[in-house]
Amino acid sequence: MLDPGHNPNNRDHTAEISRHVDIGTDEKECDTTGTATDAGYSEASFTLDVARHARALLEARGATVKFTQDGDRAFGPCVDERARIGNSAHADAVVSVHADGAPAGDRGFHVILPKSVRGGDADTSKIAAPSRRLGERVRGEFMDATHSEPADYIGDGSGLNVRGDLGGLNLSTVPKVFIECGNMRDSKDAAELTDPKWRERAALGIAQGITDFLNG
Ligand SMILES: [Zn+2]
Repeated sequence: MLDPGHNPNNRDHTAEISRHVDIGTDEKECDTTGTATDAGYSEASFTLDVARHARALLEARGATVKFTQDGDRAFGPCVDERARIGNSAHADAVVSVHADGAPAGDRGFHVILPKSVRGGDADTSKIAAPSRRLGERVRGEFMDATHSEPADYIGDGSGLNVRGDLGGLNLSTVPKVFIECGNMRDSKDAAELTDPKWRERAALGIAQGITDFLNG
């Protein structure tokens, strides 16, 4: 399962995406518009492009690949539904593709792992360990494919960050990670994120990381 973060149409549906949904441990906005580069290249466009390239690579290797959204919805899906789509599909692995909106000057990528949390419908105690294995493989292959550095502003240089506040992770019952491929708000990172060739390498890293995980 690939989960392209946000949705290019979210900006036209701000009322719908700002309603709150139950993420088990808390309530969060249904979805957000995501960030963009100074020149206006949106995170939502980036995530779809990278996810589509990764899908092509994985399908060529024989994987069955599903998306939470493929630019085919008016908005969203909401973060709780994004998790449930992966759960219903009994996905072997889910990667949610994003790019960050950190301050200019902050650079690099990081993979977000689910913290072990319980509350309401959220229980990540069983997926925390396999998600870490998935995330570590995605991190390694993403570095090899893109030659990007782990983020210099989060995760102490490990390229990994554990969070318990994301609905898309908290409600998942299958191994799942997010990847923030770079910082759209930094001009040097943005130059990479807006380069179609770089995005193909990013997709290759993600696809290879998933492949490694599925191959054990
Ligand atoms: Zn995002």
